[in-house]
Amino acid sequence: MNKQILLKSRPVGMVGKEHFETVDALLPKRLNEGELLLKARFISVDPYMRGRMNDVKSYVAPFEVGKPIVGGVVAEVVESNHIDFLPGDMVLGNLTWTELQVVNGALVKKLQKDLAPLSCYLGILGMPGLTAYFGLLHIGEPKAGETVVVSGAAGAVGSVVGQIAKIKGCRVVGIAGSDDKNAYLKNDLHFDEVINYRTTKDMSAAIATACPDGVDIYYDNVGGDISDAVLQHINKYARIIICGQISMYNSTQASVGIRPQVALIKNSAFMKGFVVSDFAEYFPEGIKQLAVWLSSGQLKHQETVMKGFDALPDAFIGLFRGDNIGKLLVEI
Ligand code: NAP
Repeated sequence: MNKQILLKSRPVGMVGKEHFETVDALLPKRLNEGELLLKARFISVDPYMRGRMNDVKSYVAPFEVGKPIVGGVVAEVVESNHIDFLPGDMVLGNLTWTELQVVNGALVKKLQKDLAPLSCYLGILGMPGLTAYFGLLHIGEPKAGETVVVSGAAGAVGSVVGQIAKIKGCRVVGIAGSDDKNAYLKNDLHFDEVINYRTTKDMSAAIATACPDGVDIYYDNVGGDISDAVLQHINKYARIIICGQISMYNSTQASVGIRPQVALIKNSAFMKGFVVSDFAEYFPEGIKQLAVWLSSGQLKHQETVMKGFDALPDAFIGLFRGDNIGKLLVEI
């Protein structure tokens, strides 16, 4: 069987295994010119994919019911009918959740095998790393001595944001959902302060204690009550980077919190949303710098790797339970 996972139905509320279906995908008998037969090696699960399960207009089209889930995949070329690829090459693409698939070579990028472990191209040297890099540096413009608060701090994006902020000489406060995650942020990544939002009763008081000089940059990965609390402590000319709102991705009703406009006015502060593809023309610069920091040891990366194709639905659901430290992916 050549397993492929489809969207079986659209979740209303929390996504569950019942929203996925595994089928046997047919393969063509031979490759047309320009085509590759690819074997999936690592498949990424990312929070934005939850948004694609809803039938709503967004920056990327919704998944179709009865059609395969699509996302970031590192795959091995098994057969090639494309001049630029040989069997054994490794490629990155936005591919279907399928064990073996045929795609046109124009749709994938050949990977440099010796630069870093292959899984890094889905994490620190891939979309999440670039999101951290461009969101923080191009929107936040951190300066040495400033206080940077990051939510979702132990995840793929947040853990890189905090480390880049440290490289830039900032004081970094991370907000995450377990003591283990916070111990990792403090002891391994050298964050200055950490807050466990699940056990802290008064988030606003905790932010005040962790940020005695106020908040200059807030890198928001989660939204909701956590962000409402941070916004009460912003400084003059603060920059609020709206990267993600994962606390709301499974909500069935609009979440209403503190309206930020008055705090933005009083502090001449700046709040900006973005998608990483806004910076696509600068990706080579971002990958190069992230790779330099990674090889010099200034950036560390952690992965939570689940094994086997069948683990994909549960791995994806795990993002919303907080199962991961660092990048969550599945090794096939
Ligand atoms: P991730 O942080 O590696 O994984 C998700 C984490 O979110 C979980 O481990 C969990 O950690 C936390 N979480 C889940 N439910 C939560 C809730 N209700 N409240 C607070 N925290 C919750 O994921 P990622 O790939 O790095 O993405 C982080 C955020 O960035 C997401 O919102 C994502 O959509 C966004 N993003 C945006 C872009 C862009 O272009 N704008 C690109 C990539 C990612 P805890 O244990 O700490 O709860």
